[in-house]
Amino acid sequence: MADSDDWDIATRAIRVGHRRTPENEHCEPIFATSSFVFGSAAEAAARFSGEQPGNIYARFTNPTVRAFEERLAAMEGGEACVATASGMAAILATCMGLLQQGDHLVSSRSIFGSTVVLFDKYLSRFGIQTSYVDLADLAAWEAAIRPETRMLFLETPANPLTTLGDIRALAELAHAHDCLLVVDNCFCTPALQRPLALGADIVVHSATKYIDGQGRALGGAVVGDAKRVGEEVYGVLRTAGPSMSPFNAWIFLKGLETLALRMREHSRNAGQLAEWLAAHPAVERVHYPGLESHPQHALAQRQQEAPGGILSFEVKGGRKAAWSVIDATHLCSITANLGDTKTTITHPATTTHGRLSDEQREQAGITQGLIRIAVGLEAIEDIRNDLARGLDRL
Ligand SMILES: *Cc1c(COP(=O)(O)O)cnc(C)c1O
Repeated sequence: MADSDDWDIATRAIRVGHRRTPENEHCEPIFATSSFVFGSAAEAAARFSGEQPGNIYARFTNPTVRAFEERLAAMEGGEACVATASGMAAILATCMGLLQQGDHLVSSRSIFGSTVVLFDKYLSRFGIQTSYVDLADLAAWEAAIRPETRMLFLETPANPLTTLGDIRALAELAHAHDCLLVVDNCFCTPALQRPLALGADIVVHSATKYIDGQGRALGGAVVGDAKRVGEEVYGVLRTAGPSMSPFNAWIFLKGLETLALRMREHSRNAGQLAEWLAAHPAVERVHYPGLESHPQHALAQRQQEAPGGILSFEVKGGRKAAWSVIDATHLCSITANLGDTKTTITHPATTTHGRLSDEQREQAGITQGLIRIAVGLEAIEDIRNDLARGLDRL
């Protein structure tokens, strides 16, 4: 048993993955190299045949990328991790590695927009069909499963209404039907939620968000068991090539070191903001898993270590009012991105969910008065004052 098996996640985030080179560096080095040199022709042959483990070419392995993979695997509690060029590349590689023509996928309706396009426009071309269900409706998940269903896919909490999926219940359902449960753990990160421990088979990440946490680089990862992730998904990566750059892997390694600390603080700021918003007369409703008014507050407490940094709220007065609150901010960044030290503010109905029909949007509960905030790490009084400027005028 490795020492790290006993370590808390905060310790794993700092100590796992770095094997010191003969230079005795303290900080993880960036191996900026595309290929590796062999000691002899026989060693080259042994590496290529797979007889001897070791580096060959950076599309396959790179020590900086491997350090990131080992660290994230230890934090999620998975046997294997494969790092990818982006979050979307992680989802693509998972589907390519684990699905084939004729398979069927059941997905939560509340997932990242590009993931929907990947499923509907591209996977469908290769004979993989997707059905969508309401994240929180367990009976709907079960009803959508067919004999050819191989995978259930979700994000929890979901954007922008912070609806939760019950990972443990969905894992049981998936396994009763011989399906894999894949969880996009982008919103919580392993600092707040570990889907594998709750029974999920695969975790996918956009490292671009909280794992970096400072908006500097694009990356992703897939975590799971040695066979499915370590062989099947890895095989897609090394062949098709959406591998992570060592420069980005270094940024994410550094990001992981402060992840638990940052996620606690994101949650604390978001919790304080949610309470303040809930008491504001211009605010109709606040969606945040940390509030007792959240319909799945108990599940959030069971499943997550903290409620996370994302919240949304509805202002009275529809789109005009929502836009005026957004436009009155000076500090918050008007952008749909999330997982940054900088607080971001967005109007889902006309941006991230703009492609939906009015009817679909209404069904999903995304009203014109809804504003989503990814709460950053600025002082909470400053974030509050920035929002009060617009809200107090409504
Ligand atoms: C951003 C995001 C993705 C895609 O990640 P990229 O790194 O942008 O490719 C996937 N899922 C969720 C939940 C996201 O927020």
